[in-house]
Amino acid sequence: MTPTTFFAAQRERLEAERDALLAEIAALDREHADREESAGIGNVVAEEMAETLARERDLALRSNARDLLEQVNAALHRIDEGTYGICASCGGAIAAERLEALPYATLCISCQSARERTRRW
Ligand SMILES: [Zn+2]
Repeated sequence: MTPTTFFAAQRERLEAERDALLAEIAALDREHADREESAGIGNVVAEEMAETLARERDLALRSNARDLLEQVNAALHRIDEGTYGICASCGGAIAAERLEALPYATLCISCQSARERTRRW
């Protein structure tokens, strides 16, 4: 695969990922709005607790989806800039296999694993 074809393929995957995330966020927002609307109908404590849990859960889901969306958008931006596939830490090339597995990766495998080692406690 030539680099141009590779980048074009990565862009397609990233765009598909971005669309899926946008749809997911929209669905979560809708679900959230529905829940807000139906809130306050029942006043049973257990219901309220379930409500709080559900709300926390979709907040977490939504913030995960948004984080991911940001990473996907940043990767698309790097393709435009011509810095896609370059490790943000050492400046080396990120292996194509890694980019295929994780199209929005910003670090090469060795920097990523070094980071994970230092983060562990
Ligand atoms: Zn690196």
